[in-house]
Amino acid sequence: MDEISALAKRRGFIFQSSEIYGGIGGFFDYGPLGAILKRNVKNAWWREMVELRDDVVAFDSAIIMHPSTWIASGHVAAFHDKMVDCKNCKHRFRADHLPSLEKCPDCGMRETLTEPRDFNLMMQTSIGPMEDSASRTYLRPETAQGIFVNFKNIYQSARKKPPFGIAQIGKSFRNEITPGNFTFRTREFEQAELEYFVPNDGKDLACYEEWVAARKKWYSDYGVREERLRFYELQPEERPHYAKAGTDVEYLFPWGWGELESIAHRGTYDLDAHMALSGKDLTYFDEATKTKYTPILIESSAGMDRTTLTMLVDAYQVEAITDAESGKESSRTVLRFHPKIAPIQAGVFPLARNKPELVERARAIERGLRPHARTLYDEGNVGQLYRRQDEIGTPFCIMIDYQTLDDGSVTVRHRDSMLQDRVDAAQLREFLGERI
Ligand code: ATP
Repeated sequence: MDEISALAKRRGFIFQSSEIYGGIGGFFDYGPLGAILKRNVKNAWWREMVELRDDVVAFDSAIIMHPSTWIASGHVAAFHDKMVDCKNCKHRFRADHLPSLEKCPDCGMRETLTEPRDFNLMMQTSIGPMEDSASRTYLRPETAQGIFVNFKNIYQSARKKPPFGIAQIGKSFRNEITPGNFTFRTREFEQAELEYFVPNDGKDLACYEEWVAARKKWYSDYGVREERLRFYELQPEERPHYAKAGTDVEYLFPWGWGELESIAHRGTYDLDAHMALSGKDLTYFDEATKTKYTPILIESSAGMDRTTLTMLVDAYQVEAITDAESGKESSRTVLRFHPKIAPIQAGVFPLARNKPELVERARAIERGLRPHARTLYDEGNVGQLYRRQDEIGTPFCIMIDYQTLDDGSVTVRHRDSMLQDRVDAAQLREFLGERI
């Protein structure tokens, strides 16, 4: 993981937030390549969950909601972790993360840990000029509640009838006691949530199974290694009382299995809770049968930062290579991103930077490809150019050489096999189109 986070910093994927001031625990910034990578992950989710379906509508709610939202959702009363403090080194831990309450894992002192105490994970803020209890509210700890409270607005305006879903991607905040494992557990993160509402007609569990299968396919389509991914089915005692079924999607990170997403059958719990506290009707009125009912909810809630980290970890490889001519052994670091996720899909270079005719041709080819793929023009030592592109996961490198000036062909180097093809420059758009 240290190697991956060092690469992430060196190549501009992920930086510690506010680094020049010593950083701030649990917050990260995405650099030029990381910002693209994360956007690609979010777009891949959005494409599959919203754009390619006719039964899911888009949504984008405010981060700050009426404080009653969090009373109805149960977050004010129950969104707690148990924490303990070390009286000696002042470090704070999540009680369930400690092997024992005997001895502080940081300073090693015995009997310096306090009794476990409740700690609410919601981040408080206040609205307006007066900081009193009337102005207090929270930064949302999940995006889903914005969907629930708007259920009626959405189905009426979108003219949707269950079964149908509402999807949203947005920031969430949790005052995690012990953020860590790079961007795995942070205090500010992005969630992609799908809330799928179904009639109470006995097909709800089948619908839940369909969503589990759809999510499995998504991870597989984007190349996440099967052996490092598992869909863990929650046992009844591991689920909230109202949930009929639940699956955690987990990835095998260098430190062990970690949750990426949870898929759950939540019954009518969320809509019921908001109806009870607000006194407003959030049922669905079926015009055809003239009946009113509260739809059952199937939820898929995925962390986009954790998924982005998964793509980075899953793609990372250091491999030994032998130079074909000299027989010299060396190692290369490569990120084997799926071409749809890779921040740069094709790098275009002139063989020599001091030959204006090569530079001009390379720039023109890169400009021509730009509307069709994520491209980059660079110049310099060929070995270093390839090395850099391998490290940022660019699947194709296009080299413009003297032969290009003669016959219009270019060399295309494949990231994974390092094999090279000779391709007509006029065919490049098609060549890439078939592969990205
Ligand atoms: P955990 O047990 O890891 O704290 P959770 O079960 O509380 O997670 P959910 O409330 O189910 O998580 O949230 C759905 C998804 O949101 C998680 O699967 C994860 O991908 C993401 N997520 C939750 N908390 C964090 C966090 N602190 N940092 C980054 N992503 C998070």
